[in-house]
Amino acid sequence: MSNEPEHTQTNAPELTAVSVLMNLSLDKTFDYLIPPRLQGQIVPGMKVNVLFGNSRKPRQAHVVKLIPAPERDDLKEILSICDEQPVIPDSLSRLGTWIADYYCCTKEQALRALLPAAVRSGKVKSRKERAYYLASPEEAANYLEKLGKRSPARAAAIQTLLLHPGASPELLGALTGITSAQLGALVKSGVLTMAEHNVDRDPFRNATILQTTPLPLTGDQGAALDRIRQMLDHRSEHDPHVLLLHGVTCSGKTEVYLQAIAHVLEQGGDAIVLVPEISLTPQTVTRFRGRFGEQVSVLHSGLTDGERHDEWMKVHRGTVRIAVGARSALFAPFRNLKLIIVDEEHDSSYKQSEAPRYHARDVAVVRGQMEHALVILGSATPSLETWHNAETGKYALASMPKRWDPDIVLPNVEIVDMRLEIKEDQRMPTFSKMLIDAVHSRLTRGEQCILFLNKRGYSRQLECTACGYIPSCSECSMTYTYHKHSESMICHLCGAAVRAFTVCPQCGGTELKYKGFGTEKIEILSQKLFPSARIARMDSDTMTKPGLYEKVLSSFRRGDLDILIGTQMIAKGLDFPNVTLVGVINADMGLFSPDFRAHERTFQLLAQVAGRAGRGVVPGQVIVQTVVPDNPAILCAKHHSCEDFFAEEMPIRKELALPPFAHFSILHFEGDDMLEIQTHAQELLDRIQNHFPQLEISPLAPAPYERIKGKYRYMAALRIARPKASFRKYLREEAMAWRKNVKRVEFYVDVDALSML
Ligand code: ADP
Ligand code: ZN
Repeated sequence: MSNEPEHTQTNAPELTAVSVLMNLSLDKTFDYLIPPRLQGQIVPGMKVNVLFGNSRKPRQAHVVKLIPAPERDDLKEILSICDEQPVIPDSLSRLGTWIADYYCCTKEQALRALLPAAVRSGKVKSRKERAYYLASPEEAANYLEKLGKRSPARAAAIQTLLLHPGASPELLGALTGITSAQLGALVKSGVLTMAEHNVDRDPFRNATILQTTPLPLTGDQGAALDRIRQMLDHRSEHDPHVLLLHGVTCSGKTEVYLQAIAHVLEQGGDAIVLVPEISLTPQTVTRFRGRFGEQVSVLHSGLTDGERHDEWMKVHRGTVRIAVGARSALFAPFRNLKLIIVDEEHDSSYKQSEAPRYHARDVAVVRGQMEHALVILGSATPSLETWHNAETGKYALASMPKRWDPDIVLPNVEIVDMRLEIKEDQRMPTFSKMLIDAVHSRLTRGEQCILFLNKRGYSRQLECTACGYIPSCSECSMTYTYHKHSESMICHLCGAAVRAFTVCPQCGGTELKYKGFGTEKIEILSQKLFPSARIARMDSDTMTKPGLYEKVLSSFRRGDLDILIGTQMIAKGLDFPNVTLVGVINADMGLFSPDFRAHERTFQLLAQVAGRAGRGVVPGQVIVQTVVPDNPAILCAKHHSCEDFFAEEMPIRKELALPPFAHFSILHFEGDDMLEIQTHAQELLDRIQNHFPQLEISPLAPAPYERIKGKYRYMAALRIARPKASFRKYLREEAMAWRKNVKRVEFYVDVDALSML
């Protein structure tokens, strides 16, 4: 929906006004006149100060485009241009428009994704540093003579500046004891001059990063790089601009990325590298800094506001050529973008869970197309969507089916059927005999183990043995998870925590049993089973402070730890040559969720976790505990075979008309009153169905988590083979109208939804 007036451009009228977006979710542009003193200085993407509504306080607005002055006499003028302009390149503004249209969100929400908050707010300023200089040596000499013995600090400062022109007040203070007031007085009397310049805050100030040089490539790596170079240098209009780099774990994909970037730099281009959850993969950043040093900027949520502001400004000013980061780094404001790499393209953290609910991989493909840049999607376990695109020739494909070093074989994956481990008391043990023996043998050989379980806490829930009461969160449809260390019960949906019960509030019973288990219990059990082992646990309960994560990882790398226990936090990207055993405590955790991607996710997770074993010369072993040993996701992970898995899964998706064979989106409705949600939602669904009879809309139903933080949640799924622009436009107009008209029920569309909850 556009509120912008139509402008005819026949006589090329003078562009003396602008359309702006306010930083309010109005999905509407407003027009302002450019006063004569600002003519010629305003370009799209700029931020300006304007008066809005009846307020007398200037507000910032974002210039969308220049227009001829509309024929109205009540138009206000732009007051001024904001200082420190973060101008968004035109190409990125266009990408923002695409995001708003495709992901069914407001233009302001899309704009928010393009600019980090630290830059958008205008509150973070560049850090200034003062530098002092002598006005002239003669002046200084005269002054020193006049000063005599009166102020040793001043005399010393002047002498220091003779040797170190441009010294900072801190340095001068430390060397000579001079105060900033005294320095100010010297400037006033004309002996010194002072200049201010910007200094960047440096997130790497404490890091020592060793410089690396390109490695000689293996045959597979060389072939992949040749293909990439060919696509960079000689791609025609009709050739695909996306390449899937399908390489098993440890095939050396990163080295291929590095050499592809080197090629782009030689050609004068810029490159973006996306990695999932970058704070969890510090090694990746180190590898890019190690090869390209100061040319790399890092953009992710672990930075302070100041650092993020400065990293963004470095890209903006063109002082760096490469941006490495999570999702948001995709919007690095490069002007000569030649390459975008999306590592682990299948990773679901690329999808943003709040508006704009964009998928960074898919937007990368669009940005690549808009700016004629090559896009490399890398993964050991590609998503079905990407695989399908490669199979149908929409994307090019390069495969690296072997590890880079033929001596480093893929680990041996063994499946333990936990049903056969059930003991006389009918209980299933947490550790199978095979896993216990395997850990023991690693400990005696001085090798390391990783134990993986994708559930934090001690036990999944508490249950009263007398009446069967299970405590759950009062605000969410979720049972509490019991955490032993803090003796508390925590809701993993909203974070609410209460003291753990010792007495059942329903029947007064005192026999409470713990059901299911989480990483905390695995840690306590491991300490009992392997008393001599040095053990650490990594999950969001233990990794509460910044820096802890890296601390544990480096002690694991140094060999100060024998067993690392963790959630998916440890599944990704970690490279430890001495880890020869990975135990998957419960492979079935995700298999039974109400999600058509459950099998795909389980397969990917198992393959990723298994990839952590045997990255050195000693062959690795992976032990997978499950109660469904014949599940295709588990069997294919055993054989390291993506192709087998795709062969199993693709026909099912096709049969059910699910992605990659159709587009799948979810309409979400949330509110305080169930009946109100149902009425409004059903009306909308009927309207949509009437407009588009061929559309498959599932019946309105409560979401799997029916309540979160006290709000009721309903949803309906949409499937459509090939959504036309008219359909998107219609849906977006409905969403915008809803924002205006329905106040007590929230409605949003999760386009290409990944989460079914
Ligand atoms: P992947 O991303 O495919 O899992 P990586 O790129 O992380 O694999 O590579 C794993 C390890 O192998 C890294 O330590 C890397 O330095 C090393 N490596 C990769 N390619 C080569 C090569 N051609 N020669 C020597 N070492 C290599
Ligand atoms: Zn809750």
